[in-house]
Amino acid sequence: MATNASADHRSHNFSAGPAILPVEVLQRAREELLNYRGTGSSIMELSHRGREYVEVDAQARSRLIELLGLGDDFEVIFLQGGASTQFMMVPMNFLREGRTADYLNTGSWAKKAIKEARIIGNVHEAFSSEENNYNRVPKDSDIRMSENPVYLHFTSNNTIFGTQQPSEPASAEVPLVCDASSDFLSRPIDAKRFGLIYAGAQKNAGPSGVTIVLIRKDFLEGARTEGLPSMVRYKTHAGTMFNTPPTFAVYMVNLILGWLQEKGGLSAMDLHNREKAKLLYDQIDRDDFYRTPVENDSRSLMNVVFRLPSEELEKTFLKEAEANDMHGLKGHRSVGGLRASIYNACPRESVETLAAFMADFRKKHG
Ligand SMILES: *Cc1c(COP(=O)(O)O)cnc(C)c1O
Repeated sequence: MATNASADHRSHNFSAGPAILPVEVLQRAREELLNYRGTGSSIMELSHRGREYVEVDAQARSRLIELLGLGDDFEVIFLQGGASTQFMMVPMNFLREGRTADYLNTGSWAKKAIKEARIIGNVHEAFSSEENNYNRVPKDSDIRMSENPVYLHFTSNNTIFGTQQPSEPASAEVPLVCDASSDFLSRPIDAKRFGLIYAGAQKNAGPSGVTIVLIRKDFLEGARTEGLPSMVRYKTHAGTMFNTPPTFAVYMVNLILGWLQEKGGLSAMDLHNREKAKLLYDQIDRDDFYRTPVENDSRSLMNVVFRLPSEELEKTFLKEAEANDMHGLKGHRSVGGLRASIYNACPRESVETLAAFMADFRKKHG
């Protein structure tokens, strides 16, 4: 790997997660690291019940509510344990005896969520693209719901396979529960359709260590309390700080939310992300040299998955990309090939550099 030891050097980082963060945010964190606002301590070293952290926590909540247009209808909770812990918490809290929860099986993460839910209760797979190695997400007409499910769970962006729901699936009266880990805050959403949204922060919203959970208040009313240990009940965490939150991770998320607001919010981000993704898909679509297994209508704006004519060439591509300071392009081990993750914080300049490199590489090897 090419290394550049100069203290402020930034490489072209296409890692799927933990992923690139905005450089302005890292700089701000560095400035405040030793002495947070005159306290003489780092925010990491201050009590989670103290004025400074409580302010950070409250600001992060209100910024989330504003950016996503949640109004007064949602609780915002910061939890630990990753999105993977939500795979069990969602059914533990909402999947009652004698009822069924519907899931869209659109990738490895969706499958893991289904596996956990099956331990808790009845699960119905309302759609699966597993047979075709998860090359697409469903159209509304592909979804076969069970009768009166408690929720419909879906993964808005399938990080590993490079597919993304173009919009929320139709679900009539059924509340949506969404694993939004890898496209959270990348575009506006229709909040009123959701009962619960969760996202591990480390793809698009911050560092690892915090999971953001948004729960609509009327949906939360139906959450279980009896027979559940305190830590896995959503009601334990809603509206209060039950135990120590991951304070530094929440602080970083708050800085990123401020950055998002400065950049014009989620509509501006959506446009920026569409433009970036187009640069790469245009390269892929030019001829048969690059190809993607993903169906056109399901293409992700966050994780661009592609193959070359041979595994040999893929290895060469990766090696030469590294030599040109482009990192994190190797596809997930379950899929192979290449994957460029181009989340909010990935600068357009990095994507332009990669697109130019792809064009060059085709000329040399095509
Ligand atoms: C990364 C990822 C996860 C797993 O997140 P953890 O925080 O590691 O548990 C779950 N779902 C999706 C869509 C992901 O991209």
